Amino acid sequence: MVPDLSEWRAVRVAHLKAEVRNLYWHIRNSQRGRQDAYRRRYYRKISKLKTELLALGESRRAVLDLVACCRAVRCRVVGCQHCGHRVNWKAWV
Ligand SMILES: [Zn+2]
Repeated sequence: MVPDLSEWRAVRVAHLKAEVRNLYWHIRNSQRGRQDAYRRRYYRKISKLKTELLALGESRRAVLDLVACCRAVRCRVVGCQHCGHRVNWKAWV
């Protein structure tokens, strides 16, 4: 049985996005200045996943929004597709 390639791509993209989010936990929860090598290790892991996302046809904008969403404690991406925060924070602040 040959698997549907478009479905395979969607599954892989979803997995990579979840993995980027998981890896960003380490960056959010480490100290700048004291744990720079530790943080670089995770930035390197994430950059490989970002490269694969771009190779799978995700737009550059989508990848940047995903990273911006993962980086912040409170997501400020307007209309974010990743975390479910669809509130426009910039209009409030
Ligand atoms: Zn978000």
